Amino acid sequence: MRILVTGGAGFIGSAVCRYLVRETGHEVFNIDKLTYAGNPASLKAIDNDPRYHFYKADICDAAAIGAIFDEVQPDAVMHLAAESHVDRSIVGSRAFIETNVLGSHVMLEAARRRWNGLEGEAKAAFRFLHISTDEVYGSLGPDGLFTEDTPYDPSSPYSASKAASDHLAIAWHRTYGLPVVVSNCSNNYGPYHFPEKLIPLVILNALDGKPLPVYGDGSNIRDWLFVEDHARALLTILTTGRPGRTYNVGGRNERTNLQVVQTICDTLDKLRPAARPRRELITFVTDRPGHDHRYAIDATRLENELGWRAQENFDTGLEKTVRWYLENEWWWRPLRDGVYSGERLGLGAEEEKR
Ligand code: NAD
Repeated sequence: MRILVTGGAGFIGSAVCRYLVRETGHEVFNIDKLTYAGNPASLKAIDNDPRYHFYKADICDAAAIGAIFDEVQPDAVMHLAAESHVDRSIVGSRAFIETNVLGSHVMLEAARRRWNGLEGEAKAAFRFLHISTDEVYGSLGPDGLFTEDTPYDPSSPYSASKAASDHLAIAWHRTYGLPVVVSNCSNNYGPYHFPEKLIPLVILNALDGKPLPVYGDGSNIRDWLFVEDHARALLTILTTGRPGRTYNVGGRNERTNLQVVQTICDTLDKLRPAARPRRELITFVTDRPGHDHRYAIDATRLENELGWRAQENFDTGLEKTVRWYLENEWWWRPLRDGVYSGERLGLGAEEEKR
């Protein structure tokens, strides 16, 4: 298949591109604007492969996206490009509305034009996979799991913009018949994760002997999914999911943020011993405004209907991740020294600059 991927220079998108090119026979056409979160270094392993192609473009630019569709003539689209960091959405929501809502609209319209021009088997096989988050469901109490039937109840500008785009994607299926499939996944972690997110930030701060910031009392719970398991899930959903249907993706790995940080400290102490236990670096900081308490995914539909299973549990996936950061300073050092050195973002007091 000729698969058009958006956001392929980001954390999950690059895992998807590497997986498709190295482990499947598909041809990949990656559209990415290369914002601060897009990093061509994450694609180094495949950028000379003849089955990998890169287009630097903004998904909000309808003319550019239309021209790329005309040139590539994709059989399927995996739409991951987004502004993705909740803390940044609190102080700069506009980019989230533009890319996540308006950009998704551009992608849906370009895909509709492509699909309208297809016939027969190619038309029947065409898919638009819209990649979203479990944050659209809001926050859980101590019990229960998010299913595909959980009502939408987003809390942050980020999750509200993703919820809006999910509704557009499903509406393009219901109104125009476009074969859209939606996936909503829990928090991902793994190699090539931009060091503003909890797990890589804590690994790198701990290596530098810097404070390890834990929001609030650290009791917020997330359900962690290893990014390479997610990439496999997305291809499964693209190729076997039913149009108009949503699939939740999760690793059944609930942990409090404090447990995550403590496990990283213990793993680093084991792999690269320091003079003092790294747990001593943990510092509790002001909580994120609107911080959802608990997310947890019920992935039964994906497991039972499409046969996907996570291959990593949190302990095996986290150790792989810590080892990767220890062995790949070439990838993260320029980011720590350049675009983001670990400062606190998103306390909500700042006015948005336009
Ligand atoms: P990321 O921030 O690491 O990467 C986003 C990519 O999109 C970057 O390469 C960036 O350059 C690109 N991009 C941003 N705006 C663009 C635009 N206007 N035009 C073209 N490219 C643009 O994000 P990620 O963590 O890889 O997330 C990918 C998708 O998965 C997003 O849709 C996100 O909402 C969703 N998701 C992520 C997680 C997670 O834990 N990371 C969890 C659930 C859902």
